[in-house]
Amino acid sequence: MIIKKAYKFRLKTNPVIEQKLWLYAGHCRFVWNYFWAMNQFRLENKQRILRYAEMDYWSKLLKASDEYGFLKEAPAHILQQKLKDLDKAYQDGFDRNQPHKRLPTKRKKALHSSFRFPEPKQFKIKNKRIFLPKLGWLSFFQSQKIEGELKNATLSYKAGHWYISLQVECENTLAQAKGSIALDLGVAQLVTGVTEANEVKIFTGTHSYRKQEQKLKLLQQKLSRKVKFSKNWSKQKRKVQYLHASIANTRRHHLHKISHTICKNHAVIYMEDLKVKNMSKSAKGSIEHPGRNVSAKAGLNKSILDQGWGELRRQLEYKSSWRGGIVIPINPQYTSQTCSRCSYTDKENRKTQATFECTACGFQMNADENAARNIMAAGLCRDGLWIEPHKRSKVGTCVNV
Ligand SMILES: [Zn+2]
Repeated sequence: MIIKKAYKFRLKTNPVIEQKLWLYAGHCRFVWNYFWAMNQFRLENKQRILRYAEMDYWSKLLKASDEYGFLKEAPAHILQQKLKDLDKAYQDGFDRNQPHKRLPTKRKKALHSSFRFPEPKQFKIKNKRIFLPKLGWLSFFQSQKIEGELKNATLSYKAGHWYISLQVECENTLAQAKGSIALDLGVAQLVTGVTEANEVKIFTGTHSYRKQEQKLKLLQQKLSRKVKFSKNWSKQKRKVQYLHASIANTRRHHLHKISHTICKNHAVIYMEDLKVKNMSKSAKGSIEHPGRNVSAKAGLNKSILDQGWGELRRQLEYKSSWRGGIVIPINPQYTSQTCSRCSYTDKENRKTQATFECTACGFQMNADENAARNIMAAGLCRDGLWIEPHKRSKVGTCVNV
């Protein structure tokens, strides 16, 4: 099986190179925003939007003009790639099969400084350096060996550094995983896993945000005291952004370690089908209908987002597919309130956050572990219909099989 992979490395830059990178990123952004504005105008006037071929034709006219002739400075390919991205963004935005996709928006310098070279024939990689059209040889911090056939290279800016992302296609040589595991996601313990053999595996989170919260607060306080858009304000703003990036990097790195361990050892992964977006919605409500427990919910939201549940799910999905495994979402209803021994379901079973105590049979267990066992039981029944835990005669056995 051929799989797609991406390697991301930090570039070693100097002011001369950075100037070029910013210039090309700016040209790409200009092209996107120019045609984006054109398409918005057409949409408002109920006209058909421009497709890639038309935009490409127009961009050539732009390049030939005096006013927009500066676009010729950038490599032609990267501008075309931006237009292709814009075209795809519009197609996805109108695609009914992708209800979460929205129409593209205007690109901003701080958020969208990237461009892609699509032609691997044009670049060479040698001794931790890459040759790119019009940019020449660029060094990067190569932290691992690049394996596979090179497909494209993307350069992007984030929090003070430029990065290069190399997409490759390679033969999948990873060993196939075996066995199954059920995962319960929690705030105190990030992941509690129970295997088929009832082994318990616990992975804790980094809480990278919580750890740096005070420092971030301090930096933000300083920022609020500075004159907006002044030089000192920009300097302080940069500090805040860098800390945010560092928090996110720590979290992602930790999740990669967890998802790697899980996918390496287990082929079938049952996990709660949580809608992280809904769960972390603000509890504030509206003026007419104010929400309850707003500050408590806000604290929980921070914790949920801090743990990165959504990102963990994404990593588990692609990594297990590389090892011939699968992630099976399970309806999380009642999993935390049901007794994994007698299937008695009651809110009262969960008196404290940490422990589960069945009011019917007196069974005691760590609450996360109990939930993971319920998920495993539900997973075993998945081929038929989902059976509500309180309707199940005995956990671990399936009524419909
Ligand atoms: Zn019980």
